Amino acid sequence: MLTNLPRGTNDILPGETERWQWVEEQFRVACRLYGYREIRTPVFEHTELFQRTVGESTDIVQKEMYTFTDRGGKSLTLRPEGTAGAARAYLEHSFYAEPQPVKLFYLGPMFRFERPQSGRYRQFHQYGVEVFGAADPAVDAEVIALARHFFQRLGLQGLQVHLNSIGCPTCRAEYRQLLAGYYQPLLPQLCEDCRGRFDRNVLRLLDCKVDVEYARTAPKLTDHLCADCQKHLETLGGYLRELGIAYELNPQLVRGLDYYTRTVFEIIDPTLGTQGTLIGGGRYDGLVEELGGKPTPGIGFAGGLERLLLILEKDPQRLPPATRLDVFLALLGSKFVPEGLRLLGRLRQAGLSADMDFLGRSLKGQLRYASKNQARFVALLGEEELSRGVVALKDMEQGGQVEVSIERLEKTLLERSNHR
Ligand code: ATP
Ligand code: MG
Repeated sequence: MLTNLPRGTNDILPGETERWQWVEEQFRVACRLYGYREIRTPVFEHTELFQRTVGESTDIVQKEMYTFTDRGGKSLTLRPEGTAGAARAYLEHSFYAEPQPVKLFYLGPMFRFERPQSGRYRQFHQYGVEVFGAADPAVDAEVIALARHFFQRLGLQGLQVHLNSIGCPTCRAEYRQLLAGYYQPLLPQLCEDCRGRFDRNVLRLLDCKVDVEYARTAPKLTDHLCADCQKHLETLGGYLRELGIAYELNPQLVRGLDYYTRTVFEIIDPTLGTQGTLIGGGRYDGLVEELGGKPTPGIGFAGGLERLLLILEKDPQRLPPATRLDVFLALLGSKFVPEGLRLLGRLRQAGLSADMDFLGRSLKGQLRYASKNQARFVALLGEEELSRGVVALKDMEQGGQVEVSIERLEKTLLERSNHR
């Protein structure tokens, strides 16, 4: 127990963290290119925030939240997603008083009490963007373009954009009735989850992974959109074609959260089945108002980092090479430690990653340790070398050994390792 992880959590270990940092950096770069700025909100918020925004009818609020009472008697919840916190911050810091739109991105851990399996955890990590204050479908197109740009940077190909509109409260209300009429007589045949969802949120039945066939023949919301919603979808389609972004209209696509309006989309890796959704997103024009703000349009997406890494790891060629040590200093006796520490300091100041032995190992042991840490070079320092002001420099990659003056060690290493 003491030495076990809680179910559904992961340690991200050295060797993996480098990949995480690389993916996160690609996301940060893509966001910067599109003019999005990072926001970091707390990992817990008032429980009410998620109840109000994510919605009482959703799986998240019904059964997935980590909710607890703190020592002050307040009900708090570990954030299950990032949009609610961003919207709260938008209001809290009066972002609405600044020039619109406000374009934000985030990266960080999210928490959902789910049945753990590959690609599904209780603490997982999402990257995402949110745009507040612009209703134009050009923003919908930009957000989708940003996601595609990010995946391109990672070398991912063959991804599909699935697009749908779930209308606005007005046209959706009429459609909801129509859909309820369609599903009512089918209720006895539906799965247990769907029978539960029928009263809470009949739209979610379209999303069911079991009753797929019924969803296929259900009335389509896109056939019942009001004129404004219809126009929004058509204009967005035109912009995406303009950008050369292929998409598929998928009338079954509804997102799991209540706050979406109009545009909903997913980017999917079709080779991965039910775990193939890389990101999900959509427009949430009613969200800020739901929190007590003025009506403010918004749109965003979120994706799971774990799932993205699972896909990237299938083709290790795509991943950056593991980080390695530029030089390991092998000392031929403990009396060289002071000189070793001084030299390490100089190498590190010069921007070289450098390390040495701290356990008084034999030379053989030190060489083994150096190669385990993938040191590019080993510099040997002993009595004889020190008296002549040199080290013996061993090339661990190409073999061979040369003498280099201690004075010029940094320069030589920088040249020979083609250091950035
Ligand atoms: P799913 O249908 O897989 O449960 P979702 O609709 O709950 O997904 P969203 O809330 O839209 O997912 O979150 C966006 C993305 O976050 C998902 O596409 C997925 O990549 C990731 N994600 C969601 N839940 C988890 C989880 N429990 N573990 C790992 N990643 C997750
Ligand atoms: Mg889910």
